[in-house]
Amino acid sequence: MIKKRIKYGCGCAVLMVLVIGSLHIIKSKIEIKSVIDQTESASLNPVVYQTVVCLDAGHGGDDVGAEYNGRYEKDDDLTITLAVKKELESLGVEVILTRSQDISMDNAPRAEYANLYDAAVLVSIHRNYYEGYEAVNGIEAWINSQFLQEDELLAAAILEVIEEAVPKSTIRGVKGGTMDGEGNYTINRVAQMPSCILELGFISSDYDNTLLDTYFSDYAAAIAQGIYTYIQTFCT
Ligand SMILES: [Zn+2]
Repeated sequence: MIKKRIKYGCGCAVLMVLVIGSLHIIKSKIEIKSVIDQTESASLNPVVYQTVVCLDAGHGGDDVGAEYNGRYEKDDDLTITLAVKKELESLGVEVILTRSQDISMDNAPRAEYANLYDAAVLVSIHRNYYEGYEAVNGIEAWINSQFLQEDELLAAAILEVIEEAVPKSTIRGVKGGTMDGEGNYTINRVAQMPSCILELGFISSDYDNTLLDTYFSDYAAAIAQGIYTYIQTFCT
């Protein structure tokens, strides 16, 4: 499916969408809300005239993601995401989360949630895994295979700040499509705004795990700063 963009940059086209498709939106909202963390969504207000960043903590609930020596990816994903949210909020950015607790969610509703709230960007936070090769390490970002400039700039901005903040990190770069070379990851396929999946190091690498634990706040601040730089440059 071709990735469609409702808008380029971050201008607000949502008012028109709300008027024309109000019934559809209300229906979608109800459907999506049923799978969104209630605690989080209950306090959300779609402030459509401001820049909203949607963060997605990968996996959750029964889906633990990758696992290495008792360490679950879903936990790392959530902890990092919550820390990035805090950093972005300290910069004055409104943040919405697809999940703020350990709950199961499909991937499509995560991106649909970002679409519904007209988020300026969607960043999904994960950790990588390479079975049997602990030496494989580093941080990479996946974008839609169309390599739209906005997606690439968003992902590159995040990686650039991480590289500066934690120089010991291996930066593996921005990649398009999927690991197996077919199609796109659901998040990047469904999102109607610039999006990327950030793989914050390999959970199968002791080196990356030690870096993450040691420089946790630096990583969180760097991801937030990368997103902030992007929206400051392209969304204001
Ligand atoms: Zn993952």
